[in-house]
Amino acid sequence: MVSPQIRSKYQVTIGIECHVQLKTATKLFAAVGNDAREAEPNTLVSPICFGLPGTLPVLNKEAVHLAIRAAFALNTEPQRFSTFERKHYFYPDLPMGYQITQLHQPIVVGGFVEPEVDDQPFKVRINRVQIEADAGKSTHPTGKDYSLVDLNRAGTPLLEIVSEADMHSAAEAKAYAHELYLRMRYADVSDCNLYYGNMRFDVNVSVSMTAVLGTRTETKNINSFRAVEKTVEYEVSRQIEVLEKGEKVSQETRGWDDAKQRTFKQRTKEDAEDYRYMPDPDLPPIELTNAQIEAIKSEMPVLPDEWRHRLQSLGLDKAAMELLLEAELDDAEVYYLALIEEVILEKEFAKQLANWFVNIEVPLRRDDSLTPNAAITNQGRLALYRATAELIGADKLSSSNAKTLITKVLTTDKQVPVIEDYAKQHNLIQESNVSAVEAITKNVIAENPKAVEDVKNGEMKAIGFLVGQVMKHSQGRANPQLAQTLIKQQLGL
Ligand code: MN
Repeated sequence: MVSPQIRSKYQVTIGIECHVQLKTATKLFAAVGNDAREAEPNTLVSPICFGLPGTLPVLNKEAVHLAIRAAFALNTEPQRFSTFERKHYFYPDLPMGYQITQLHQPIVVGGFVEPEVDDQPFKVRINRVQIEADAGKSTHPTGKDYSLVDLNRAGTPLLEIVSEADMHSAAEAKAYAHELYLRMRYADVSDCNLYYGNMRFDVNVSVSMTAVLGTRTETKNINSFRAVEKTVEYEVSRQIEVLEKGEKVSQETRGWDDAKQRTFKQRTKEDAEDYRYMPDPDLPPIELTNAQIEAIKSEMPVLPDEWRHRLQSLGLDKAAMELLLEAELDDAEVYYLALIEEVILEKEFAKQLANWFVNIEVPLRRDDSLTPNAAITNQGRLALYRATAELIGADKLSSSNAKTLITKVLTTDKQVPVIEDYAKQHNLIQESNVSAVEAITKNVIAENPKAVEDVKNGEMKAIGFLVGQVMKHSQGRANPQLAQTLIKQQLGL
């Protein structure tokens, strides 16, 4: 381990390349299904995926469409003119002997995102985004003297999003990776399913004591945000140790071993010239018109930044906002943000609704042991919350009983009931009748001489205890404000 003193002498520089799988129905250049998740090996293939002689690629229009959406999600616009190149390398899962990608004129140049670490925003510029075809998959069965090649993934459309080296800590790298995830999900560019490799990160890390960047390593194909963070931490320590020993960091490609929580060397890094890039003679350039770009811009959904802006206007804290942004992606059928949006002009109710989502409904839906009521529609949920807010406003429901009520309704296998009747049936209506509450406060005062003594001696905290006892005796139904007023009266305060 490197000591913090030594660590602080070094500046860390990080750039990230992210591959996201585009949400198209078919492959980038072939009319073959794209969903390789559960498919038997080599069932989603055509002669184009094998690169058989005489086949010609035809560009999937939908992939271009999604790349344009990605440009908007990265705060920029697509290039009007972009080209395809061949990147040559030899590997069994690449039968064509080259990958089709974009080198000289990619579809997106520039853009930026602004994630946060500890509430501090930092800017990460995007260098470029290129459309490219994925390779197949090789597996090496243990104990066997052969390898297996599955070409289902060969030709799957990817976007490679290349950042500038604008990150300087593991936390920033993780926050950036997560921000890309949110944006690509909200823009509906990709499912970003990390488990299925829909989104993978190549993390470039270097350290230096001077303004001149150090030699970097690239750790490839990381498939979790946590592993992005861990990779940076590990590489920073490892590289500093190498340098402190007077040795040199070698430019190489590494992998992440999640079980051992460390990176390991895979191969010495190639230089660009090793790939013998050349223009792809089979593919014309992509030429976009302003009208095409405007048409796609006009159909863009609300993106995370705009949601944050709207939620912030309600006075929600950042943690709550981020939880809502994330939860919105949990279940395509259950809306949170759209419902808040519907009532956003009723500021107080909108904020209350957001807080109920954060504190009650999201945890409830994420709790595997609870089964939410599937019969409740989004509009039914809104009606439940509105009726609950009205009961609170009319002093008929305490906030703790509101939680009980909401939880009961959301997990009961019925339609949304008439809320006030339901609250009555379940003894949740708040008791604001003075004589009824007074009867309880009198008992509580009689039963708790010590606390009463404390209150009389000026220890006002003890009042809270007495009110708590009243709530307990009334099964949570007594109006706590009223209880406190009555206790003070009865003690002559
Ligand atoms: Mn790539």
